[in-house]
Amino acid sequence: MRFSTKAIHVGQEPDPTTGATIVPIYQTSTYTQDAVGEHKGFDYSRTVNPTRSALERQLAALEDAQYGSAFSSGMAATSAVLGLLSAGDHVVVTDDLYGGTYRLFSRVLARYGLQFTYVDMSEPATVRSALQKNTKMLWLETPTNPLLKLIDIRAVCDLRPSGAIVAVDNTFATPYFQRPLAFGADIVVHSTTKYISGHSDVIGGAVITNGPDLNEAIRFYQNSVGAIPSPMDAYLTLRGAKTLALRMREHAANAQKVAEFLESRDDVESVYYPGLRSHPQHELAGRQMSGFSGMLSFTLEGPPSRALDLARRTKYFSLAESLGGVESLICHPGRMTHGSIPKEEREARGVTDGLLRLSVGIEDAEDLIEDLRFALEATRPQVARL
Ligand code: PLP
Repeated sequence: MRFSTKAIHVGQEPDPTTGATIVPIYQTSTYTQDAVGEHKGFDYSRTVNPTRSALERQLAALEDAQYGSAFSSGMAATSAVLGLLSAGDHVVVTDDLYGGTYRLFSRVLARYGLQFTYVDMSEPATVRSALQKNTKMLWLETPTNPLLKLIDIRAVCDLRPSGAIVAVDNTFATPYFQRPLAFGADIVVHSTTKYISGHSDVIGGAVITNGPDLNEAIRFYQNSVGAIPSPMDAYLTLRGAKTLALRMREHAANAQKVAEFLESRDDVESVYYPGLRSHPQHELAGRQMSGFSGMLSFTLEGPPSRALDLARRTKYFSLAESLGGVESLICHPGRMTHGSIPKEEREARGVTDGLLRLSVGIEDAEDLIEDLRFALEATRPQVARL
């Protein structure tokens, strides 16, 4: 079965009770048992729920994997993966990553005795030098958020110390464009809030793996901690993911046009998009991804305040956190998604106050380009105009 067929059929057989073609929202916390311990495989909805199970099977299939577990947010999914570790364990983390992940690692999990080293994982040699005797996990995002750097998943997996886990946050690329397990990763994490659900109307996360032991441990954590999506949220995510392939093709086509437009402007300083030939890892992107997705970042000529000015002038690009919905969004990572990273650290990693990030939606590309052209002209520095 191929990608789009899986998205629409896996986990979504007609409902066994009624024949309903669409998976019902099983809005129930509990299930009546025939006798003590005699039930139809469902006992309590924190542990298992049919709507959630359908989503979990669908998401696993999209990553060509055996097992999927759905969570109430991407951060809950990330916590579950880190929950595989114990105090004293060490994690090598990419230094360009979602600010909320950094916050969870540095301000919550570090207090429980986990150790983190942040390095530029786009350089395999840097990863090697960060490994320690107690390294038990390598955590990467690729493309990274917000600088769209790429990490060679296979190269990182080749450096994995025995017994350590390679976990990849695949939120930006989605399984439509990139399947990290095929390159040797042990675990894939998603914020399903983004492209997978696709309509900016639900918060969710997922952990996907082929390892039966890893799956068992994640399931145990999911049931023990209880950060599960509601049946309604599971339904919305399942429904959104049915059109993932269609949407991703449009997101990527539009992002390519927007990136090329921005690159052609003399008042735009740099554009970060893996689909551009000028991207330093364009070749790796072509090897590791089957498309370049819909996220890009850029910096402007002029003072950093121009970025703030531009961000409030666009009409179709809403100024908002998040990404991956059908509508286009613009964000100022330094003040928004990555505001939880101390300014000095953030700037050292390239997330400057002049950086803007776009989640390119599936509106008409020409409208999106006009919108940006208008905002760029309106904020063009005097010097550049001469
Ligand atoms: N991973 C990435 C790459 C993200 O961009 C985000 C959120 O922006 C998350 C994880 C966290 O997901 P959630 O907001 O669903 O908890």
